[in-house]
Amino acid sequence: MKECHHVTESNSSSDGKKAGPECSQCEEECTKPRPSGCPHRCVLPCHPGDCPSCLQMLKIKCHCKLSVLYIECLKLTSADLKEKELLVSCRNQCPKELPCGHRCKEICHSGCCPVNCSQKVKLRCLCKRLKKEVQCCKIQEGQASLECDALCKEMKRKAYEIKEAEAKAALEEEKRRQQAELEAFENRLKGRRKNKRRKDEVEVEQSSWQKYKNLIMLPVFGVAVVMVAWLMVYND
Ligand SMILES: [Zn+2]
Ligand SMILES: [Zn+2]
Ligand SMILES: [Zn+2]
Ligand SMILES: [Zn+2]
Ligand SMILES: [Zn+2]
Ligand SMILES: [Zn+2]
Ligand SMILES: [Zn+2]
Repeated sequence: MKECHHVTESNSSSDGKKAGPECSQCEEECTKPRPSGCPHRCVLPCHPGDCPSCLQMLKIKCHCKLSVLYIECLKLTSADLKEKELLVSCRNQCPKELPCGHRCKEICHSGCCPVNCSQKVKLRCLCKRLKKEVQCCKIQEGQASLECDALCKEMKRKAYEIKEAEAKAALEEEKRRQQAELEAFENRLKGRRKNKRRKDEVEVEQSSWQKYKNLIMLPVFGVAVVMVAWLMVYND
């Protein structure tokens, strides 16, 4: 731009956006640099002084790319790094998975997920009696462990003793049963050899006696009664 004539300040009552009285109005669009991050054009045609603040909205994806956000351009371009981080966050939990398999606990954030997983996980002692909650990262770093305490050991010992006693009792019971079986078998064998015939005869004798007992005893008893009665009458 060449100065080809005398230029005076424009009228002080104007807003400073008009050309001086010696100049014609420039109809070109404003070519002043935009604030960093603003993709919009200046709303004014070529003008002296600063550009007015951008009042357009920005449509951008959040850090995690799951949400679309509408933010005032001015707000974003004038924000510092920390404010920007918050403005572009959808405020939902980060959807990314950490190497340990847990989901990132941070809210939608820029950059990489934190390496330290803050997920609480249950840690148990070897015998599973004791438990406590620790952070996942502590386990991964090998910093967390839960040793069995004295009571754990005491209970383990007792359980072992009970098991031992039960096994012993079962063994003895089995021995007794086998012994009894053996004795019963031997008795049966002996009994069959010695008593087989005699036992059968006795049984037959006994059963026939039982059968005819009443038949024999009844008349005998009847005769006795008659005889006693006859004797009593005869004696008189
Ligand atoms: Zn111009
Ligand atoms: Zn803008
Ligand atoms: Zn401008
Ligand atoms: Zn997000
Ligand atoms: Zn984890
Ligand atoms: Zn994350
Ligand atoms: Zn234990």
